[in-house]
Amino acid sequence: MELIESKSIFSPATGFIKRGGFEWTCNPYVGCTFGCSYCYAAFLPQSRRPPEEWGKWLTAKKNAAALAEKQAPKVAGQAVYLSSVTDPYQPAERGLMLTRGILEALAEHQPRLTIQTRGPLVARDIDVLKQFRSLRVNLSIPTDSERVRQQFEPKAPPLEKRWAAIQDVREAGIAVGICVTPTLPIENVDAFAKRIAAFKPDVLVCQDFHDSGGGFGADTGEEARTLLAEIGWQPSDYRRFVDRLRQDQKVYEGETGFFPPPKVEGLFPVKSPGLFDGVA
Ligand code: SF4
Repeated sequence: MELIESKSIFSPATGFIKRGGFEWTCNPYVGCTFGCSYCYAAFLPQSRRPPEEWGKWLTAKKNAAALAEKQAPKVAGQAVYLSSVTDPYQPAERGLMLTRGILEALAEHQPRLTIQTRGPLVARDIDVLKQFRSLRVNLSIPTDSERVRQQFEPKAPPLEKRWAAIQDVREAGIAVGICVTPTLPIENVDAFAKRIAAFKPDVLVCQDFHDSGGGFGADTGEEARTLLAEIGWQPSDYRRFVDRLRQDQKVYEGETGFFPPPKVEGLFPVKSPGLFDGVA
């Protein structure tokens, strides 16, 4: 793992994050050792390494907490997405606690914060998360099948650990989203839909695989598309799953599901001026 001094920890939102209404992204790391086979971040310029090396390297911004301490006033009351090109709760976070340091710095300035992760480690920070008045924690739970999970994201945490973490976050009174994104093959559509409906997430998002021919979007990695074809999961299966989910609750699809938590009246209503130089 490489440790670097970064110039900035909050970057102006771009792409689907910006279109969703976020003003800032925050990435304590570059790269991600969960190394999911479908990850679009592998193809982004920030990654600076060939996509085939995705998951095998990690750069940590060792001054992330100090930067956040200094720069958090600039994002007060604004919509921040943590994280867009990495997972803020991947294994290195357990020891480095960069994400935790950022949260501690942000709490005083009350941004509208969305945390996006596959990492049950997020539950470690519930004490800090409870200090935010506008927050949603999105856990990615892309299938009901541990076997499928191991095929597509072998280094990411087991599904039941994610369910346990999101339950803990919910019990702490924090809004939660379940992101079935990208939607991997589902073993038992009806049972999975019932489980999600019983949990009653504040936001539920699905997203089918897609290939925009190498042009950047939230494109699906080739390795994952090959796996999907081998398993024989079709777009019609995805549609059947989403239709089943909709019998019980609202389902957002694709980027329409990635939007900030609601504004809180009386909390930093004035947008702070100025952008930071450079990118995170
Ligand atoms: S956890 Fe997220 S950022 Fe990390 S490899 Fe998987 S999809 Fe990409």
